[in-house]
Amino acid sequence: MIDPFGRHITYLRVSVTDRCDFRCVYCMGEHMSFLPKAEVLTLEELERLAGAFIDKGVERIRITGGEPLVRRDVMRLFEALGRRIGQSGKAGGLKELTLTTNGSQLSRFARELVSAGVRRVNVSLDTRDPDRFHALTRWGQLSKVLAGIDAAQEAGLAVKINMVALRGTNEDEIASMLEWAHGRGMDLTLIETMPLGEIGEDRVDHYLPLSDVRAKLAERYTLEESSYQTGGPARYVRVAETGGRLGFITPLTHNFCEACNRVRLTCTGTLYMCLGQNDAADLRAAVRASRDDEALSAAIDAAIARKPKGHDFVIDRNTRAPAVSRPMSLTGG
Ligand code: SAM
Ligand code: SF4
Repeated sequence: MIDPFGRHITYLRVSVTDRCDFRCVYCMGEHMSFLPKAEVLTLEELERLAGAFIDKGVERIRITGGEPLVRRDVMRLFEALGRRIGQSGKAGGLKELTLTTNGSQLSRFARELVSAGVRRVNVSLDTRDPDRFHALTRWGQLSKVLAGIDAAQEAGLAVKINMVALRGTNEDEIASMLEWAHGRGMDLTLIETMPLGEIGEDRVDHYLPLSDVRAKLAERYTLEESSYQTGGPARYVRVAETGGRLGFITPLTHNFCEACNRVRLTCTGTLYMCLGQNDAADLRAAVRASRDDEALSAAIDAAIARKPKGHDFVIDRNTRAPAVSRPMSLTGG
């Protein structure tokens, strides 16, 4: 699959549910209404859709949500997709199946994930202070997430920590998070807040440009440029003092669109060609209309042909409105 700007689409993110056992303040309102079940694709439908993307050249799939591990029987999807790893099919075949999770259920599922073929997981963790954690996630319990990270590492999963950098909330914790993560052999990636979804919070106050964070860290650490790439949008440096990797995802201060190789599928079968644009294609209609894989393939081609050049994220100080009204919990980040 090649889009109109010559980018090869090889990466699919699949949000398997919009539900979550946390209510992170930058992601969801406290009282969310979730999608009715009839609108959500079954696991079999998700498998068929993801399979169609693999047949068309997708090499890496990241399962996300909402919280993917709260979807009932989600391991069945991991197992089905995991069986496609290394199989050469119509295209090159699936090379990697990964997961982004809040970590709350990892103690329970780490081993099964490994059995299914998952080798790396991203765990979102913005603070290691229990009170702060509770304030940020509203419903989360830090001890469960830390136990989940332990279980993941014990099961042999490579863990990367994703931390959303928030002014006045966790900016004083970035250095200690880095020491902790690197001390345990985990990469750390910092993420800027993105203006997605109406969440009844004021994002301008929390927006912390990672260029500032990086400059501050550089006073204390030697940040060596690195060519390391995971296929995602993060840019990495190596921290000489810890020997670990530090990534930066900066949708607002640095345009990462030129190298964008990804599309996002929601649990309702809506395909978003860009995280920062509203245009989308309804693949659920194509999946439910018939068992005809050619029609599905044609619907995917038509969507890829509309992938836009880039996003228009701005945190607008005048309107304070988000650039995109759907929350991250729908598209999965
Ligand atoms: N529930 C899982 C988790 O938290 O890892 C997966 C889905 S969550 C939507 C994926 C990532 O998006 C998390 O790392 C989360 O911190 C991040 N995220 C959510 N809302 C965001 C926002 N407005 N700006 C930047 N990152 C956001
Ligand atoms: Fe749930 Fe992840 Fe959103 Fe937090 S960031 S509310 S854990 S989906």
